[in-house]
Amino acid sequence: MRYSEIFLPTVREVPSDAEIISHQLMIRAGMIRKLTSGIYSYLPIGYRVIRKLENIIREEMNKAGAQEVYLPMVQPAELWQESDRWTHYGKELLRFRDRHDHEFCLGPTHEEVITSLVRNEIKTYRQLPRILYQIQTKFRDEVRPRFGVMRCREFGMKDAYSFDVDEESADQSYEKMFTAYNNIFRRCGLNFRPVEADTGSIGGKYSHEFMVVADSGEDALAFCDQCSYAANLEKAEVGCPEKKIISEDDWLPLKKVNTPDCTTIEEVSAFFKVNPSEIVKTLIFNADGKPYAVLIRGDLEINEIKVKNYLGVTDLELASDEMIKDVTGAPRGFAGPVKIKIPILVDYSVIDMVNFITGANKKDYHLKNVNIGRDFKVEAFRDLRFIKPDDQCPRCQASIKIARGIEVGHVFKLGTKYSNAMKAMYLDKDGHEKIMIMGCYGIGIGRTVAAAIEQNYDDDGIIWTMPLAPYHVIITPVNANEKNVMEAAENLYNLMIANNIEVIFDDRDERAGVKFKDADLIGIPLRVTLGQKNLSQGNVELRIRKTGESQIYSLQNIVEKIKEIIEQEMKQQA
Ligand code: ATP
Ligand code: MG
Repeated sequence: MRYSEIFLPTVREVPSDAEIISHQLMIRAGMIRKLTSGIYSYLPIGYRVIRKLENIIREEMNKAGAQEVYLPMVQPAELWQESDRWTHYGKELLRFRDRHDHEFCLGPTHEEVITSLVRNEIKTYRQLPRILYQIQTKFRDEVRPRFGVMRCREFGMKDAYSFDVDEESADQSYEKMFTAYNNIFRRCGLNFRPVEADTGSIGGKYSHEFMVVADSGEDALAFCDQCSYAANLEKAEVGCPEKKIISEDDWLPLKKVNTPDCTTIEEVSAFFKVNPSEIVKTLIFNADGKPYAVLIRGDLEINEIKVKNYLGVTDLELASDEMIKDVTGAPRGFAGPVKIKIPILVDYSVIDMVNFITGANKKDYHLKNVNIGRDFKVEAFRDLRFIKPDDQCPRCQASIKIARGIEVGHVFKLGTKYSNAMKAMYLDKDGHEKIMIMGCYGIGIGRTVAAAIEQNYDDDGIIWTMPLAPYHVIITPVNANEKNVMEAAENLYNLMIANNIEVIFDDRDERAGVKFKDADLIGIPLRVTLGQKNLSQGNVELRIRKTGESQIYSLQNIVEKIKEIIEQEMKQQA
């Protein structure tokens, strides 16, 4: 491609509404432009990168035995009513009516459509297993679209769905997708980790998010650098501490203390002049309409997902003032476990505590020297809190680290959630009708490209890895007015095209500095510079974007050298 002909509007200034680096660089490098909130156009350079990623994904999906389909984006309401998501999906689902007043939505995901296709076409165990995938546009009316294509409303996704006869076979499909995902993100040159994620009502260990480690990430992940354990923050397990032997001789007499206006942990710890870790927080939850008390050490945070999973309820929220008053007899801020008439769940952090402080279930009062067993009974001790840095790894006891991450992909064993609701059945060997076991597997296309930039840039711009680079080489003659230089550049360009090298020829009549700046900004891995002095000796300069290193090569050898570098880097990632 000739630079003079390419549609590549680069921008020098940092766009004021772009908070994170990938968003800034994608605008500045002429990859994307915003149409309206959360909706972007890809320009030629940007779309080439998208295509590169899509091709890597296709190769790995096909290798794993998945087959490509293309499903409609406009989906009838009836299908979503069958799965019961028409009412449950919420406002991210964009709904509309056609001229006949029929209701539709724009697909935010495609479980309903694929399940409807498969249930109509697959009848017996002989046609299973199947993994089907597509690369398609999704629409999610996100509350707060942000960070460019990282969290937008219209975006490309690779979504795959597996259908199997039984759990064992479904686990194999999951494994295949898990392996394919590892290959895809490795080939993109990303520093990533598959992390265990919450499976909600499905249970089991079958949900992994693929996280690209980056400070700008919206998610937090907990990981161990001694073993391979990694989980997102909601899911990360906290082990039970080894229980100390607590002697009843240590128990001090229970005391009720007047604590006017002390409702928060900070106020209570200041009042008693103790560390928050000597106080036990009592939170009252409304679980599907029933109140529960959850106890945790004062300096730690309850993880509501763990509470919800333990209770097996659909809705969990902090109790209203009214419910708190009802169950404790006191306003918010004075709840405690002593003499409360609701079930008490206790986080492991409280298991070893003696003579602690809690609310007294009376306005402006707290209790001192509270002890488990003597003063109240516990329904269960469980892991109910968020993990924090330096907690023990639940697998190997080394210490846990917390990092920020961008979720680029998600693999999930669905079980029979959709196949049951939508009756996707098959006949087994003995002619019995059985429900198919499903899995779903997504990769955000634009988000993965943005994440690759978050990990590969410097002050001058993007640094593409070879597999994702929109072009591999840029030829830069330093002075467009020197005829012999331009001729040599033109010849080299033609030779590279003939050798199937993806190359831009910067034939613009611009200062060398401008050309270099653009080449660095758009992140082309290799730059070949042609100048009068080198050329007079039959030489050109090859500069590596990633390292900034330059070396002189003879014009005769440069194409071979470039082919060698490209091949080597592509192979390294594969
Ligand atoms: P998030 O928690 O970030 O909203 P999600 O759990 O809703 O993601 P999935 O439903 O698992 O995402 O979708 C699969 C993949 O699609 C995600 O891993 C992500 O890469 C991508 N994705 C999801 N929402 C968006 C979005 N609003 N913009 C761009 N990509 C997205
Ligand atoms: Mg989402």
